[in-house]
Amino acid sequence: RTFRGRRVNAVILLGHGARDPAWAGPFATLRETLAREQPALAVETAFLAFMPPTLEEAVSLLAGRGAARIAIVPVFLARGGHVKDDLPERLDALRRRYPGCALRLAAVAGEAPEVIAAIAAHAAAQADMRPDASCGEIFGSGSGSGSGEQQYGKVWLVGAGPGDPELLTLKAARLISRADAIVYDHLVGEGILALARLDAEIIYAGKEASRHTLPQAQINAMLAALAKRHKIVVRLKGGDPFIFGRGGEETQALSAAGIPFGIVPGVTAASGCAAYAGFPLTHRDHARMLTFATGHLKNGSVDLDWPALARPCQTVVFYMGVAAAEEISQQLMAHGLPADTSVAVVRQATLGGQMSLFSQLDEFPMRLREANFTPPALIVVGEVVRLKAGQS
Ligand code: SAH
Repeated sequence: RTFRGRRVNAVILLGHGARDPAWAGPFATLRETLAREQPALAVETAFLAFMPPTLEEAVSLLAGRGAARIAIVPVFLARGGHVKDDLPERLDALRRRYPGCALRLAAVAGEAPEVIAAIAAHAAAQADMRPDASCGEIFGSGSGSGSGEQQYGKVWLVGAGPGDPELLTLKAARLISRADAIVYDHLVGEGILALARLDAEIIYAGKEASRHTLPQAQINAMLAALAKRHKIVVRLKGGDPFIFGRGGEETQALSAAGIPFGIVPGVTAASGCAAYAGFPLTHRDHARMLTFATGHLKNGSVDLDWPALARPCQTVVFYMGVAAAEEISQQLMAHGLPADTSVAVVRQATLGGQMSLFSQLDEFPMRLREANFTPPALIVVGEVVRLKAGQS
């Protein structure tokens, strides 16, 4: 079998070899994976000892088929003994024998940073499986100990998604299950806190539209205090921490206090609500823009750029907008949106109690009152709403 006259590049994965034939297994897998991912590349394995083929046999095979270049990649070989001492001589002999084929000894695969990172990730995942593992160290910046200067653990601003625990990211789930302390908001579902360690300190920071349980400054101070005592502090927020979640204010405060922090994005309520209620947020024919706006009332009214929000061919999603439904409806119509523009209001999206109300711009505030819709709910304005499976 030749390469049908083509001059192809080839790789030889060179391993040490062992008496136990099982040792060759991962090499076969590696070879298959590489060949599958790089179909233009010819891939062979070879071993220094105990198992066939030898390096010479592999080179002979590939050169015989017409390989133009062969990279020999030592896989987990010690750089000293084999790679440095024996191989250059053998390669020189091979080069003389196959002058038409460029042979190159590549860097040892086990030393490549990506390989080290993959092994580290694998090892960390293994440690994770031990229920008693103290995993804090993996995230670095340990908590205060002996030394004079103040040291902090790390505060993670973690997006908990819109409610359904299955919408957590793997990273969020991992941090929640490891956290020493968790400070959570009103909108974080119970199923999510169930992932916390039994001995974790769990603190409710509240924030319902009507009663702000803790002022923001107090939350910031609490995060700093917790980071002094703990290695992993999770600040758990509904949806995505950077979308109407005051994540920006908290990171500013943490950064001013010199406390290390990280952000884990989450599925924002608009995405969860659209997916579970069954309509898209954008559509080539109906909405080429998507705007997230806050309907939060400031001094009894909503301060938004209404002319911009009333432009056609877009979807506008109002967060925290239930109390302002009347004003939203009036302002959008006053600024030119037709009264029959579709509106969906979705309450408790992605949770067991999800309720959706499909209506239109002039009627939805009244329908909300009739149905006694209470927050948390999103108001979605735009023709995409009509694309709900089974409708128009
Ligand atoms: N950071 C969050 C939003 C916080 S503002 C995110 O990215 O989703 C809080 C508002 O989000 C609520 O008033 C409500 O409008 C909306 N919201 C959050 N979770 C929701 C849910 N499960 N169903 C409907 N609306 C939700």
